[in-house]
Amino acid sequence: MAIFEETMYGVQCDRCKKIYEEYHSGSTVFVDKESVMEAAQDDNWLIEDSKCYCPDCYECGEDDEITIKPTQEDDLPKDERERQLLKDFYQ
Ligand SMILES: [Zn+2]
Repeated sequence: MAIFEETMYGVQCDRCKKIYEEYHSGSTVFVDKESVMEAAQDDNWLIEDSKCYCPDCYECGEDDEITIKPTQEDDLPKDERERQLLKDFYQ
């Protein structure tokens, strides 16, 4: 038997870096891109324009409008961010 390498595909959330795991099998990698994308979408992952978001990282509004939650950096209150900037400045 020859040894060969095969490319596997997985889906990772662009926001929180969580890796998609198929609910039933626990697999995180699939042999083809289409299967992993379909499986992830079935589990409410959002995949568009080659960006992937887990169900925790986006919100579906009333008109099916999809909002990606802000990143943790954006979650910081504005004055906290300014304070950090000042700290960096004076160091
Ligand atoms: Zn996520």
